[in-house]
Amino acid sequence: MKDMNDIHGNLIGGEWLPGEDVRPNVNPSDTRDIVGHYASAGLTAVDEAVEAARSAFPAWSAAGPQVRHDLLDAVGTELLARKDEIGRLLAREEGKTLPEAIGETVRAGQVFKFFAGEALRLTGDSQQSVRPGIDVTVTREPVGVVALITPWNFPIAIPAWKIAPALAYGNCVVLKPAELTPGCAHVIAQLLHKHGCPAGVFNLVMGPGKVVGDALVSHLGIDAVSFTGSAATGERIAATCGKLRRKVQLEMGGKNPMVVMDDADLQTAVQACLNGAFFSTGQRCTASSRLIVQKGIHDAFVDVLGREMQALRVGDALQADSQIGPVVDQHQLESNLFYIELARSEAAEVIGGQRLERDKPGFYQAPALFLGTTNSARISREEIFGPCASVIRVEDFDEALTVANDTAFGLSAGICTTSLRHGTEFRRRVEAGMVMVNLPTAGVDYHVPFGGRKASSFGPREQGRYAAEFYTVMKTAYQSA
Ligand code: NDP
Repeated sequence: MKDMNDIHGNLIGGEWLPGEDVRPNVNPSDTRDIVGHYASAGLTAVDEAVEAARSAFPAWSAAGPQVRHDLLDAVGTELLARKDEIGRLLAREEGKTLPEAIGETVRAGQVFKFFAGEALRLTGDSQQSVRPGIDVTVTREPVGVVALITPWNFPIAIPAWKIAPALAYGNCVVLKPAELTPGCAHVIAQLLHKHGCPAGVFNLVMGPGKVVGDALVSHLGIDAVSFTGSAATGERIAATCGKLRRKVQLEMGGKNPMVVMDDADLQTAVQACLNGAFFSTGQRCTASSRLIVQKGIHDAFVDVLGREMQALRVGDALQADSQIGPVVDQHQLESNLFYIELARSEAAEVIGGQRLERDKPGFYQAPALFLGTTNSARISREEIFGPCASVIRVEDFDEALTVANDTAFGLSAGICTTSLRHGTEFRRRVEAGMVMVNLPTAGVDYHVPFGGRKASSFGPREQGRYAAEFYTVMKTAYQSA
């Protein structure tokens, strides 16, 4: 039995509370290393967290923008100041390399600071009525109590880009982070608590999604749900929210295309694909998983990309020379290896993709390239969420665009080309929420909308000032003198 002092508790109504169970947070680079022990909440704790948030809502929604600005700004400042230490925790619990993890922590700090400013900038409209003697105003009000459900792959940035706008616009929050990576979410909870977030305004409940997440999403005290994760869970949450007529925002998977035209600069294309497909161990919803390559550049591109991919150093996330960290856990590793076998059975030539042994027990896998495959193969249609990419050869721009759009998803899409016409046409005609020209499909700014189309996303966009669409509701008021 663990000593309670060693256990990171749930934050409910301003108090750190034990849960019904305790879960070790395991380092995927070295499974002997336990990052910490985290309490799993039970159903009663979910009730208490929602109740605490409901009780805190009247005062917080009326607190005004200065208070919200100051809280978010203080959290952002501390995240930036402690980026190395928190980045280290992130690399240990999720497995992305230390520079990637520090970069993600900086991003979380920037997001908090951005929404600190947005709290002060929320505007409305004042219009003349079509009827004489009447004033019309259109204002935004907080939605109420929002449930935030987050995945393991960006354990600090995704909680940050949901929590910060929720609080900036006057909502109260119950956050359920992924069970695999509760550590970074717990740090944000600690910082909010430390910098004076009133009791109940922000609550953290950790534990399994199928129990804690499910209870939270269907709780009658919740007004809105923002979710990032798999399509299957997203669909389930959408069904529950539809039945309860509850506002919902979903960010789900991708099968993002990167087109490489004959007129591309070869090095630009190779670097964009290496980064987009394999960095962060391919565990990004915006990862380039379909490389759609025109026939003239195909062989040279595959030759250079294959060599550079095989030269990438896979190792412990904290090791200075690692370029790719481990896969997040055994389950995800087995899923990746399943798809690599599937690629072989679908007649693709596979470069790399083997299980790797290191001097410590971890979930190491070489990145994989599937050559000679088609867009109809399962490996080109299903999200793998690992360091694996299909290469699909095409004749010309029109075929490249058709293949790029022939997918259930529509999150991010890229093209490498030196032709203004190809770049412009692609930007106009590709069916994706985000388009990159001569840049990797992954890697976005924090002050502009993030989100996709088709099966990738549902509901209003996240991030930037557009986040107000989800985290506020409109009120139109008519007043006669
Ligand atoms: P999930 O969709 O299962 O998990 C995302 C979040 O939802 C986690 O916090 C999870 O909790 C929670 N959750 C799970 N089931 C429920 C439920 N019934 N009700 C409410 N919340 C729930 O994705 P995973 O993290 O397990 O990853 C599986 C696959 O999803 C990956 O292989 C990848 O393909 C995809 N994925 C996509 C992401 C993206 O950004 N597009 C991000 C992460 C995953 P818990 O983890 O504690 O069970």
